[in-house]
Amino acid sequence: MVYDINNIFAKILRREIPNTTIFEDEFVLAFHDITPAKKIHGIIIPKGAYVDYTDFMQNANAEEIAGFHNGIITTIKALNLTQNGYRLITNIGEHGGQEVPHLHFHILGGEVVGELTE
Ligand code: 5GP
Repeated sequence: MVYDINNIFAKILRREIPNTTIFEDEFVLAFHDITPAKKIHGIIIPKGAYVDYTDFMQNANAEEIAGFHNGIITTIKALNLTQNGYRLITNIGEHGGQEVPHLHFHILGGEVVGELTE
Protein backbone atom coordinates (compact mmCIF):
# COMPACT_ATOMS: atom_id res chain seq x y z
CA MET A 1 0.00 0.00 0.00
CA VAL A 2 1.25 3.50 -0.82
CA TYR A 3 1.46 5.85 2.17
CA ASP A 4 -1.24 8.54 2.08
CA ILE A 5 0.27 11.76 3.44
CA ASN A 6 -3.23 13.04 4.21
CA ASN A 7 -4.26 10.26 6.60
CA ILE A 8 -5.54 11.46 9.98
CA PHE A 9 -2.46 10.49 11.96
CA ALA A 10 -0.17 12.27 9.47
CA LYS A 11 -2.31 15.37 10.04
CA ILE A 12 -1.96 14.92 13.80
CA LEU A 13 1.83 14.67 13.40
CA ARG A 14 1.81 17.90 11.38
CA ARG A 15 -0.37 19.52 14.10
CA GLU A 16 -3.16 20.14 11.60
CA ILE A 17 -5.48 18.21 13.94
CA PRO A 18 -5.20 18.50 17.74
CA ASN A 19 -4.40 15.57 20.00
CA THR A 20 -4.17 14.86 23.72
CA THR A 21 -0.54 13.88 24.02
CA ILE A 22 0.62 11.21 26.46
CA PHE A 23 4.27 11.08 25.39
CA GLU A 24 6.41 12.43 22.58
CA ASP A 25 10.04 12.22 21.56
CA GLU A 26 11.99 12.28 18.30
CA PHE A 27 10.66 8.84 17.27
CA VAL A 28 7.05 8.64 18.45
CA LEU A 29 3.89 10.49 19.35
CA ALA A 30 1.46 8.86 21.80
CA PHE A 31 -2.00 10.31 22.41
CA HIS A 32 -5.43 9.36 23.71
CA ASP A 33 -7.82 7.72 21.22
CA ILE A 34 -10.72 10.02 20.29
CA THR A 35 -13.27 7.22 20.87
CA PRO A 36 -11.77 5.13 23.67
CA ALA A 37 -12.73 1.46 23.63
CA LYS A 38 -11.67 1.04 27.29
CA LYS A 39 -11.07 3.33 30.28
CA ILE A 40 -7.57 3.92 29.02
CA HIS A 41 -7.01 3.83 25.26
CA GLY A 42 -3.72 5.18 24.00
CA ILE A 43 -2.50 5.30 20.41
CA ILE A 44 1.20 5.35 19.63
CA ILE A 45 2.60 6.15 16.21
CA PRO A 46 6.10 6.42 14.78
CA LYS A 47 7.06 9.79 13.34
CA GLY A 48 8.15 8.15 10.09
CA ALA A 49 5.69 7.52 7.26
CA TYR A 50 4.91 3.80 7.53
CA VAL A 51 1.57 2.29 6.55
CA ASP A 52 1.60 -0.62 8.98
CA TYR A 53 3.78 -2.95 11.06
CA THR A 54 4.88 -4.98 8.05
CA ASP A 55 6.00 -1.85 6.21
CA PHE A 56 7.73 -0.55 9.35
CA MET A 57 9.64 -3.73 10.18
CA GLN A 58 10.73 -4.16 6.56
CA ASN A 59 11.74 -0.57 5.86
CA ALA A 60 12.54 1.33 9.07
CA ASN A 61 16.12 1.48 10.27
CA ALA A 62 17.34 -0.03 13.55
CA GLU A 63 17.23 3.33 15.36
CA GLU A 64 13.61 3.92 14.33
CA ILE A 65 12.60 0.39 15.34
CA ALA A 66 14.27 0.69 18.74
CA GLY A 67 12.88 4.20 19.21
CA PHE A 68 9.34 3.07 18.45
CA HIS A 69 9.42 0.11 20.81
CA ASN A 70 11.06 2.19 23.56
CA GLY A 71 8.27 4.73 23.03
CA ILE A 72 5.64 2.03 23.51
CA ILE A 73 6.95 0.95 26.91
CA THR A 74 7.54 4.56 27.99
CA THR A 75 3.91 5.34 27.13
CA ILE A 76 2.68 2.25 28.99
CA LYS A 77 4.61 3.40 32.06
CA ALA A 78 3.27 6.96 31.70
CA LEU A 79 -0.25 5.50 31.73
CA ASN A 80 0.57 3.49 34.91
CA LEU A 81 -0.44 0.21 33.27
CA THR A 82 2.48 -2.02 34.19
CA GLN A 83 1.09 -3.32 37.48
CA ASN A 84 -2.42 -4.40 36.42
CA GLY A 85 -1.67 -5.13 32.79
CA TYR A 86 -2.89 -3.98 29.43
CA ARG A 87 -3.45 -5.10 25.85
CA LEU A 88 -1.26 -4.02 22.97
CA ILE A 89 -2.78 -4.34 19.50
CA THR A 90 -1.82 -3.30 16.02
CA ASN A 91 -4.33 -3.79 13.22
CA ILE A 92 -2.89 -4.43 9.77
CA GLY A 93 -4.71 -4.17 6.47
CA GLU A 94 -8.20 -5.20 5.49
CA HIS A 95 -8.29 -8.50 7.38
CA GLY A 96 -6.79 -6.86 10.46
CA GLY A 97 -9.45 -4.16 10.48
CA GLN A 98 -7.03 -1.25 10.06
CA GLU A 99 -8.79 2.08 9.48
CA VAL A 100 -5.98 4.63 9.60
CA PRO A 101 -3.10 3.81 7.21
CA HIS A 102 -0.26 5.06 9.43
CA LEU A 103 1.28 2.42 11.74
CA HIS A 104 -0.21 2.62 15.22
CA PHE A 105 -0.41 0.45 18.30
CA HIS A 106 -3.46 0.58 20.54
CA ILE A 107 -2.74 0.43 24.30
CA LEU A 108 -5.85 -0.67 26.16
CA GLY A 109 -6.23 -0.88 29.93
CA GLY A 110 -7.52 0.70 33.12
CA GLU A 111 -10.03 -2.16 33.43
CA VAL A 112 -10.30 -5.80 32.34
CA VAL A 113 -10.06 -5.64 28.57
CA GLY A 114 -11.89 -8.92 27.97
CA GLU A 115 -11.60 -11.72 25.47
CA LEU A 116 -10.82 -11.46 21.80
CA THR A 117 -14.25 -12.46 20.51
CA GLU A 118 -14.16 -12.00 16.77
P1 5GP B 1 -7.51 1.26 13.52
O1 5GP B 1 -8.91 0.77 13.29
O2 5GP B 1 -6.92 1.89 12.27
O3 5GP B 1 -6.60 0.24 14.14
O4 5GP B 1 -7.62 2.39 14.63
C1 5GP B 1 -7.78 3.74 14.35
C2 5GP B 1 -8.08 4.45 15.67
O5 5GP B 1 -7.88 5.84 15.49
C3 5GP B 1 -9.52 4.25 16.17
O6 5GP B 1 -9.47 3.67 17.47
C4 5GP B 1 -10.08 5.68 16.19
O7 5GP B 1 -10.94 5.91 17.28
C5 5GP B 1 -8.83 6.53 16.26
N1 5GP B 1 -8.97 7.85 15.66
C6 5GP B 1 -9.50 8.14 14.44
N2 5GP B 1 -9.45 9.45 14.21
C7 5GP B 1 -8.86 10.02 15.30
C8 5GP B 1 -8.53 11.37 15.63
O8 5GP B 1 -8.76 12.32 14.89
N3 5GP B 1 -7.92 11.57 16.84
C9 5GP B 1 -7.66 10.53 17.70
N4 5GP B 1 -7.08 10.84 18.85
N5 5GP B 1 -7.95 9.25 17.40
C10 5GP B 1 -8.55 8.99 16.21
